[in-house]
Amino acid sequence: MRSERVSIGHVERKTDDDREAFDPKIQVAVITDYLICFYDGRDLSTYPKWLHQNIDMQLGLSCYAIHSGDTAVLFDTMLYKEQILWIDAYLKGMGIRNISVINSHWDPDHIAGNFLYKDRDIISTEYTRVNIETYAQALQSGEIWQLYGDPSYPGMSEVVLPNRTFRDQMTLFVGDVKVELHEVFLHQLGSLVAYFPKDRILLAADACEDSVLFIPPGTEALVPVQITTYGKLNKFDIDRIYPSHGRFDIIKSGGYGKEFVAAMMDYKSQLISRMRDADYLTAPLESFIGAWVERNVLEIHEPYRWLHEYNVNLIYKHYTDKPTPVINLG
Ligand SMILES: [Zn+2]
Repeated sequence: MRSERVSIGHVERKTDDDREAFDPKIQVAVITDYLICFYDGRDLSTYPKWLHQNIDMQLGLSCYAIHSGDTAVLFDTMLYKEQILWIDAYLKGMGIRNISVINSHWDPDHIAGNFLYKDRDIISTEYTRVNIETYAQALQSGEIWQLYGDPSYPGMSEVVLPNRTFRDQMTLFVGDVKVELHEVFLHQLGSLVAYFPKDRILLAADACEDSVLFIPPGTEALVPVQITTYGKLNKFDIDRIYPSHGRFDIIKSGGYGKEFVAAMMDYKSQLISRMRDADYLTAPLESFIGAWVERNVLEIHEPYRWLHEYNVNLIYKHYTDKPTPVINLG
């Protein structure tokens, strides 16, 4: 199945092709005999200066390969073309020849590598495809990332749409490994998670982040809906969780436990329940997640202070002249 490239006539900003190249220092963790994690970021000391201000690289960025024999499905594609070329070469080195893609949602750090697999299946929810198409020009120019604090994000040289879409739920098999894709509105509208019933593993994408979740602009009015959706996720029989933005040492040594979901639900609930408190905008991140840090469910990773500050300001501004919404913990 062939993916459609979105053709855009005029892009003023520099793209992926115009900037200094870099040599990715991707770390690899073998999670099971069918699941691999590729991890980049957090330590940016050896990377060129232009890359240091990218928030995803500061947070740490993972994608995952589900593989069997000569076939693999990539769960997200990372942000820069050097990264996806590195991962592609790694998989080819394992003898893998057939590579397909799942896009967990439409943010650049999850879809920028689609260009390499435009002749393959690229799976997402219907909403994710519509969002990529809607924001294609801003994704290509890099302007989409200005909102998130990286004015020099170079954009994608090519925006490629998913070509197999679904609503609500889709099941696929990679060899005999059953993978359930569930549409869950926990980050962007149209976000999905992957669940492996055999080993009760969840690939959470950006539904769970360590230290805290990011509230994308435009979703602030729907945080109460997301809190309810965490209740739905909490009913999954989960042993291990692997996020897109977390700690590599946890990922490589067994993953996060189910408390990760509860921690996210608790954080988002506090964003709502504390919004009228006098210290809402100034209270340190520790006052929101300190109890989870003590139990090593989360850690304070410094760049998340900026994201937390962004979150509380977004929520505060939105609800200034509106009633406090009801929270349903499901
Ligand atoms: Zn992300």
